Amino acid sequence: MHSAKPLTVHIRLTKACNADCSYCSSWQGSPDARMSPAELRRALEFVLSTCGDALGVRPTHITAQFVGGEISSIPLAELKEHVQVVEQVCAQHGMSVIAGAQSNLILTERKAVQLYDLFSGRLGTSIDLESDKRTVAGDAERYRVIWKTSDSYLRKRRSPPGAIFVVEPGGAPAAERHMLEAARSARALTFRPVFTGGIKTVTVNSGPDFASVFTELFDTWFMRLPIIVEPFFQLLESRLAELESSTAASNSSCAFQSDCTQKSINIDPNGDLHVCLEMADAGFPAIGNALRGEWFHDAISVYSSRKENLSQDCIDCPYLASCRGGCMYESIAQGHGVHGKSDYCSTWKAIFGRIDTALQEYGVDAVREWALRLATRHENLRCEGVAKSILQA
Ligand code: SF4
Ligand code: SF4
Repeated sequence: MHSAKPLTVHIRLTKACNADCSYCSSWQGSPDARMSPAELRRALEFVLSTCGDALGVRPTHITAQFVGGEISSIPLAELKEHVQVVEQVCAQHGMSVIAGAQSNLILTERKAVQLYDLFSGRLGTSIDLESDKRTVAGDAERYRVIWKTSDSYLRKRRSPPGAIFVVEPGGAPAAERHMLEAARSARALTFRPVFTGGIKTVTVNSGPDFASVFTELFDTWFMRLPIIVEPFFQLLESRLAELESSTAASNSSCAFQSDCTQKSINIDPNGDLHVCLEMADAGFPAIGNALRGEWFHDAISVYSSRKENLSQDCIDCPYLASCRGGCMYESIAQGHGVHGKSDYCSTWKAIFGRIDTALQEYGVDAVREWALRLATRHENLRCEGVAKSILQA
């Protein structure tokens, strides 16, 4: 049987950003230093025509995620060309493609809907309605006002953009408030532990802190809120798939996979290739440069060795098929190396334990139906948003 082999391609056309958030260094980049459509064609062509030999994967479909820097700093006409390039190169390689983008929504209402329409509603953002960490020209209030204006406009004229909320140490109450806001706005929410996005002084979550915050959030969400909240939804889907069929469970995805070099790649504006956006941001060694047409086989071999060398804890773990040892980036960033497990292991274990208890309490069918309702609701909202854009055209 021909099995699906997805590859996620993060495309960072620029590192420049129109905001100047305190934990990130992207805004120090020059908006003029960006990858042109012709360079993107060359880079993607190199990746897709050589990844079979270099990475040992021949993808059947591509999820292209345009990230920044800030994507809206690229002129719209040029960005359209970039999207066309991706579609054309993938088509030439017989691969289907779904393209999405991440924006800070610090832009005009008009540009917000233009971006939404270009990516058929697959437009995500980040949300922070309370702290002073996100700023435009040093002004947190200004950031919030512009963000809220664009977000409200999208919710009214299209559909609610999904959002990432960064959970900081001690940030449980703020995280919960943002989850309830997401439920009211019908937006999908992703919780991410704070990371070092170029600023090394950021304080990250300790394992026990993270476990207590995330399990509390999981308990508030599970079987109660009508929205997708990640990574909880992904962990639930993996566990359901694992219990129902070992074949379905073999489809792992970020950030719970051990074969990252075959599932994910990040292209930086200068052509540098990294396993993923997180590893690029952390400054870990690159695996090649697509504009120079080079793969760095030593680095690839180190990163790809994780799959066969997970820690003994993971090998013995009852949740291995769903968790896959968690995230390599986290393990390296926390000092446990390429083969280690992240400090967040206890969080994933606690959540899997809660899922198993709930499956006994509610029954597998009821839990599966709840998960399906959430996914259908979000997809319906996106389709309605795309329909609005077609009617307005
Ligand atoms: S290292 Fe982590 S974030 Fe990067 S691709 Fe692997 S699972 Fe995803
Ligand atoms: S829950 Fe922990 S021990 Fe189990 S597979 Fe995940 S990281 Fe490894």
